[in-house]
Amino acid sequence: MELFQISVRGVVQGVGFRPFVYQLATKHKLTGWVCNTSGDVKIEVEGEREALDQFLVELESEAPPLARIEGIIAAGAPPQGYTQFEIRHSIAEEGRYQLVSPDIATCDACRSELLSPEDRRYRYPFTNCTNCGPRFTIIEDIPYDRPKTTMRHFRMCPQCQREYDDPLDRRFHAQPNACPECGPSLELIDGNGRAIACDDVIATASKLLKEGKILAIKGLGGFHLACDATNEEAIQLLRDRKRRPFKPLAIMLATLDEVKEHCFVSNDEERLLTSPECPILLLRWRENSSISRKVAPELKYLGVMLPYTPLHHVLLRETGLPLVMTSGNISEEPIAKDNDEALRRLRGIADFFVLHNREIYARYDDSVAIVERGKPQLIRRARGYAPYPIHLPFKAKQVLACGAELKNTFCATKEDHAFISQHIGDMENLETLEHFENTIELYKKLFRIEPRILAHDLHPEYLSTKYAKELAREFTLVGVQHHHAHIVSCLVENGIQEPVIGVAFDGTGYGSDGTIWGGEFLVANYKGFKREGHLEYVPLPGGAAAIERPYRMAFSYIFTLLGESILGQELPFLEEVDEYEKEVMKRQIEKGINSPLTSSCGRLFDGVSALIGVRGKIDYEAQAAIELEMTALDDIKNSEGYPFSIVEQEGVKIVKLKDLFEAIILDLKNRLPRGIISMNFHHTIARMVVEMCHLIAAESGLCKAVLSGGVFQNRLLLRLTADALEKEGFTVLTHSLVPTNDGGISLGQAVIANFAFSN
Ligand code: ZN
Ligand code: ZN
Ligand code: FE
Repeated sequence: MELFQISVRGVVQGVGFRPFVYQLATKHKLTGWVCNTSGDVKIEVEGEREALDQFLVELESEAPPLARIEGIIAAGAPPQGYTQFEIRHSIAEEGRYQLVSPDIATCDACRSELLSPEDRRYRYPFTNCTNCGPRFTIIEDIPYDRPKTTMRHFRMCPQCQREYDDPLDRRFHAQPNACPECGPSLELIDGNGRAIACDDVIATASKLLKEGKILAIKGLGGFHLACDATNEEAIQLLRDRKRRPFKPLAIMLATLDEVKEHCFVSNDEERLLTSPECPILLLRWRENSSISRKVAPELKYLGVMLPYTPLHHVLLRETGLPLVMTSGNISEEPIAKDNDEALRRLRGIADFFVLHNREIYARYDDSVAIVERGKPQLIRRARGYAPYPIHLPFKAKQVLACGAELKNTFCATKEDHAFISQHIGDMENLETLEHFENTIELYKKLFRIEPRILAHDLHPEYLSTKYAKELAREFTLVGVQHHHAHIVSCLVENGIQEPVIGVAFDGTGYGSDGTIWGGEFLVANYKGFKREGHLEYVPLPGGAAAIERPYRMAFSYIFTLLGESILGQELPFLEEVDEYEKEVMKRQIEKGINSPLTSSCGRLFDGVSALIGVRGKIDYEAQAAIELEMTALDDIKNSEGYPFSIVEQEGVKIVKLKDLFEAIILDLKNRLPRGIISMNFHHTIARMVVEMCHLIAAESGLCKAVLSGGVFQNRLLLRLTADALEKEGFTVLTHSLVPTNDGGISLGQAVIANFAFSN
């Protein structure tokens, strides 16, 4: 007889791990106990040595699907003479923390119960089990037990309680366990906030959707706004009410087969689409799809997800339509989560509200992903992923990094974990700031983090920077350059610590010299960076106005690079700019009035987009650049590309763009199709990266190149650039776990701050 004391670390709570241990111990005829603590799962098992060894092997190899084991420690101890195996009550331990599971899409077993008329959970919208359902959105503190979740208000009926207590049941200790007898329920409210009496909320909701109505539907982490995705009028109405004329909307489809009717789906894409994380995936849209083009005007990709809650499964089946399922908010505010909040904020947008009485504790948007070059890549990291941490290749201090402005996330490090928050949003209003502050407190509490070091962007006007500065008395502050953070975020998720060539292309980032950077070539590691080169500076006439109206960028490039005479030439985009505005821009640029200099690559895309007549004014961030990518005839293999030059000024390599603009203007005069000009332009940028990397490699001896920054959300550019670099012998590192856009900044900041004090 021998006894093992075992502790298991990772996501091992709320995922059916204890019943699994119970069954495993029983199978091997072992006695003892298993118990959750605030830190890890503790096990004592007693029995024959051979059985104990086998138990240890299977503990890892047979673990339940949602468990993520990060480490198992086992040690021998004197036998206690246990007579049975039992599951003991959770123990809270001071200062210890455990990993919390993200919310997980409805599993196959629950789905089939949901759709079986004879099952007691037939059509029950809150069905879940230990393998699926809400987790992070309902947990208020650890250990993860029902009284510490928003499910504590519901008392289980005898049948549910029996499932909950039975170690052999799929719902053993499933904290959100519920049924129609005892669990949460739906309610239908009209646009004026009055309850509508109806026996069957889902049936009525489906009927309303089929009639073209707009519904606000409460989900896992907040509200969606839903309407029929084939109904042009309904979509237009939703766009008018949401004040979003062009921004692409996400779609939910009932089944994978239906997705394939509307989109092309590769094997890798299918795997991600049907995974327990169930993100929105951007898929190539079929020409003959019946989904209205108004869902994603001018785009080749459609954001698609499958149903991930029981409510979605029933609703989608009974409606029989593809549904628009977009975040329940107006423009850039955070997603609405509470019933009264939704009724207030979404009034005037939704015709009806489908509410329920299971409280959402944490706001949690849908994640968005793509698969490019065979690799999944998160563009927005939230549901299904956060708050699961990124593994750090070093032992971390407790640091809180406040992130950037747009697509904000924050990141807290502890031990070998980087807890990146779920997507918070654009920090441009008080609602988002409040969401940011509340979520920081939640992470500090859940993961028992007490940071003393605060990392922030260098941009003095970011709300995240201001948040950090206000806490300067209590914390040590570390300011981190934006593009350095981009590159390091990509290094960390790839587990690399050595110096690399970093290519950081984005719209805007505050430079160390006070100018606006965004087309940067760095040599960087965690400890620091050197700016080896960048795109040449041009003025942003009118600052923010030049971002909202890309024709101002086009004007700035041609006027700055080619001089006054170019304005006399026949350029279609110029004819649409009024004479007065042209004069204002000229004065702004010549005198440097409200025209900060920028080396931004995002602005270069904007400028070219406007110049060739793709998009001169935008409705959502990066729209002009995105539509330029969509315009490109990407089946052209042997594009020439345009000329450019690289000069060295005071030890820094500058990419000069005069030749590029002259060549594009010549093609415009020769009436070359926009699709070809755009394709040539993409090839040119890829070649710029390759040539700059060669120059930097020749001096530094480095052969790893990192691609990061929002511009690399451009799939065509990412593909062309990464392929070209690899062909020339570089090892290319790209993003996968964290967004290449500013959603990844906080991770880079946190890691750089960790190394700011070491020598
Ligand atoms: Zn389930
Ligand atoms: Zn029940
Ligand atoms: Fe950025």
